[in-house]
Amino acid sequence: MNEYDSDKIADVLRASEGMTLTDKPENADIILFNTCSIREKAEEKVFSDLGRVRPLKLAKPDLIIGVGGCVASQEGVTIFRRAPYVDVIFGPQTLHRLPELIAARRASGRMQMDISFPEIEKFDSLPAPQVSGGSAFVSIMEGCSKFCTFCVVPYTRGDEISRPLDDVLRDIRGLVAQGVGEITLLGQNVNAYAGEHDGEAVDLAYLIRTIAALDGVQRVRYMTSHPREMTPRLIELYADTPKLANHLHLPVQSGSDRVLAAMQRGYTALEYKSIIRKIRALRPDISITSDFIVGFPGETESDFGATMQMIEDVQFDMSFSFLYSPRPGTPAAEMADEVSYETKMERLQRLKTSIDELENAYSEKMVGTLQRVVVEGISKKDPRELAGRTDNNRVVNFVGSADLLGRFVEVTITAVSMHTLRGELVRAA
Ligand code: SAH
Ligand code: SF4
Repeated sequence: MNEYDSDKIADVLRASEGMTLTDKPENADIILFNTCSIREKAEEKVFSDLGRVRPLKLAKPDLIIGVGGCVASQEGVTIFRRAPYVDVIFGPQTLHRLPELIAARRASGRMQMDISFPEIEKFDSLPAPQVSGGSAFVSIMEGCSKFCTFCVVPYTRGDEISRPLDDVLRDIRGLVAQGVGEITLLGQNVNAYAGEHDGEAVDLAYLIRTIAALDGVQRVRYMTSHPREMTPRLIELYADTPKLANHLHLPVQSGSDRVLAAMQRGYTALEYKSIIRKIRALRPDISITSDFIVGFPGETESDFGATMQMIEDVQFDMSFSFLYSPRPGTPAAEMADEVSYETKMERLQRLKTSIDELENAYSEKMVGTLQRVVVEGISKKDPRELAGRTDNNRVVNFVGSADLLGRFVEVTITAVSMHTLRGELVRAA
């Protein structure tokens, strides 16, 4: 989501001020930090980053320094108090107002801040996206109204709001005209999408069906979805919509019903597994990935055991796991927690080992198979190699020429190394 927002920030400043991106902070006229506050580590990082650019401001007083994203939304003017050389503070829903904020800062010489939630206005005022490559993100809803007890998102990004269907389709048609074949629909809870078309309510399943029917669209993904809204209509798509990617990221957080209830996730371990069972009945080889939180307040060894059992039962393919991080203002931050840091770290290690083993086993199984991949870029390790993404969301590196960038190609998987696959180009698809 933040990567998407950062691209939008660049689009807005390119359109309004003719700004271009630079890798060198010392060349910049504007330096913006797009921050994340999902865990404490991410939040503290912004202050050390700000400290690093401070000397640039002293050398070049016209330099504009800004802080955006969820830390800005959560901390507001506190940022300015800790770092008084900051010129603009903006939130995830006000990034489109940056040109005005910067102009007002220049005219008045005073720090400008806007961290409000002006609903859908942001989307209406964004310039048409510029894309390079065959794959693009399209944000279809924003915010979250779920209030899981550990999470800061509903406070920093505001309530769930969805874009009208026609607006989303207009964006997608524009992307397809620029050669984009793979669309990832984005939202904090993307399957809570509640759009409108001709005065009628439409859901994510309807939106995906409509997109998949467009000529030029080759693959559709959506991220991140919540188990509570994996509706029968959405699940059905896995049977009859081949363009829907063979991958579902469905965060479970924990396998213990007691912990899931304390988190207010709104489902039990059995309900989660039943969703996966239904999807696998339609797509037996679908890749299921997840997020886990280890060390939620009061998590016992038996709660943790239930999470390990969940991993064993579902056989996830790749997952993210996080040590619980108390977030100011959330209910879980007030809960009693007697579990030691060492115990939590030890559990996290055990969980990571288990999900790594599964990831490797799935990778090994892919060796020898033919995969359709969208070429996303040049490989970071070797400039003669390309990096592409498979239908089940794995990255594969293979030798190929740069004119394949953005295209769909067929690749045979030849080997596995740590987190990436190696392959051989067979043909452009
Ligand atoms: N809306 C998505 C997740 C968004 S946040 C969902 O509900 O599934 C992305 C991930 O960050 C979460 O899935 C969770 O695993 C992790 N996360 C959120 N708050 C956290 C916290 N306070 N400590 C540790 N991890 C957290
Ligand atoms: Fe946070 Fe996701 Fe829960 Fe919303 S549904 S509160 S984003 S974890």
